[in-house]
Amino acid sequence: MEELSHYVNGAHVKGTSGRFTDVYNPATGEVQGKVPLASVEEIDAAVAAAAEAQVKWAATNPQKRARVMMKFGALINENMDKLAELVSREHGKTLPDARGDVQRGLEVVEVCMGGPSLLKGEFTNDGGPGIDLYSMRQPLGVVAGITPFNFPAMIPLWKMAPALTCGNAMILKPSERCPSTAIMLAELLKEAGLPDGVLQVINGDKEAVDALLDHEDIQAVGFVGSTPIAQYIYGRAAANGKRAQCFGGAKNHMIIMPDADMDKAADALVGAGFGAAGERCMAISVAVPVGEKTADALIERLVPRIEALKVGPYTAGDDVDFGPVITKASQERINGLVESGVDQGAELVVDGRNFSLQGYENGFFVGPSLFDRVTPEMDIYKEEIFGPVLSQVRAETYEDALKLTMDNPYGNGTAIYTADGDTARDFANRVNVGMVGINFPIPVPLSYHTFGGWKKSAFGDLNQYGPDAFRFYTKTKTVTARWFSGIKEGGEFAFKAMD
Ligand code: NAD
Repeated sequence: MEELSHYVNGAHVKGTSGRFTDVYNPATGEVQGKVPLASVEEIDAAVAAAAEAQVKWAATNPQKRARVMMKFGALINENMDKLAELVSREHGKTLPDARGDVQRGLEVVEVCMGGPSLLKGEFTNDGGPGIDLYSMRQPLGVVAGITPFNFPAMIPLWKMAPALTCGNAMILKPSERCPSTAIMLAELLKEAGLPDGVLQVINGDKEAVDALLDHEDIQAVGFVGSTPIAQYIYGRAAANGKRAQCFGGAKNHMIIMPDADMDKAADALVGAGFGAAGERCMAISVAVPVGEKTADALIERLVPRIEALKVGPYTAGDDVDFGPVITKASQERINGLVESGVDQGAELVVDGRNFSLQGYENGFFVGPSLFDRVTPEMDIYKEEIFGPVLSQVRAETYEDALKLTMDNPYGNGTAIYTADGDTARDFANRVNVGMVGINFPIPVPLSYHTFGGWKKSAFGDLNQYGPDAFRFYTKTKTVTARWFSGIKEGGEFAFKAMD
């Protein structure tokens, strides 16, 4: 069994805490590695080395830092297949989906190649007599990134690329369930010219995270994961005086209006509901058709599409639509929630429980489930299932559908399918959700915009990537300067009487 390592000062470093956790192959259920869980002392040592390396890195001009990103981007492209394979091996998602995981991270690296233009300050000439003002964006120092299992490449890249481009050093603590991709990204960064110590990848669990949250040399914390942990991390980091942005879970609704193209809506729902086994914070987990006829028409189209979905290991190649979920506990939890839906009176139209695949009986597979006539009191509506389960809640009117979406405590993503521009505009203007799709099921903004939810889907200020990331990872210093009239008016030679 492979013993994984940390990546400190540009080299693989074995864990010294004596604590490990298993890394599974979710398709077979077998343990394929063990990852070290860092102690407080290991965190302290990594932060101390990062603090030292950061000083020189911050003094490196922004264009040179951006060139590291250019090389890094080229190396990610060259190693795309290897990275995708690593993602799939530990996460279980299909290879095309894993490539998408790397690609959406790479796009943030691409924006960072132009980082210097985002790091330019502001200037006011003659703000008063002989007075100029200028603002500079300066790096924070050492920052921490804490990331979830479901995008092992994309989210670490969303954290590290802007943080490093801004001149910070970063301690990245990836998910202990999918730790290998972040280590490979760190290796590629070294190859791209990043000085040792500027990015340290430390594996660990709560002990390592708490050590980062309490460490006085960590200036900012960027977190992505589930809502309870996001809220906890935000609270503890903020109480310790750190800048924090913590992105949490989701329950994304898609409204289907009677005038929508029903086939396109059904296709979109199947992709957004079941892709990556529903393990996406931008997955659509609630379909909200408006009117009984729309609901019936949607079910009619969803059922054959969902029944045709192929579930299997990523090694089966193009023949698979989605893979296993991440752990046995997750598999059991999802099956339990489906059970609760039945018990609480929802209509289970497609039943994904008891899914079994020959040769992979111990894998963490869950078949796709579709519920109709779900109501907001049911657990399958209230919980973020994070599995291949789509719930249909029937709404009588557009206003009811909008209210349902707005009353939900989460506010990450949402979508509307309609042929009517007026309805679409109204929805985009009024809905209290951070990312909105119009005839677009998973509206993850492009990398030069920013990504972030509202309500219980995000705690703290500013979004991820794009211009917001450059604001988050720098602090502004504003200088007001006055230069008195001097030599340009000539020297004074005459003895001046006092007056
Ligand atoms: P998680 O909250 O269990 O773990 C996220 C990170 O926090 C991991 O690195 C983990 O080691 C650490 N952690 C876990 N428990 C902790 C504790 N008690 N104290 C300190 N640190 C702890 O999340 P996950 O299961 O890895 O990821 C799935 C979740 O992430 C879902 O809820 C999903 O919606 C969310 N997510 C959100 C976004 C977003 O941008 N909003 C993106 C991707 C995933």
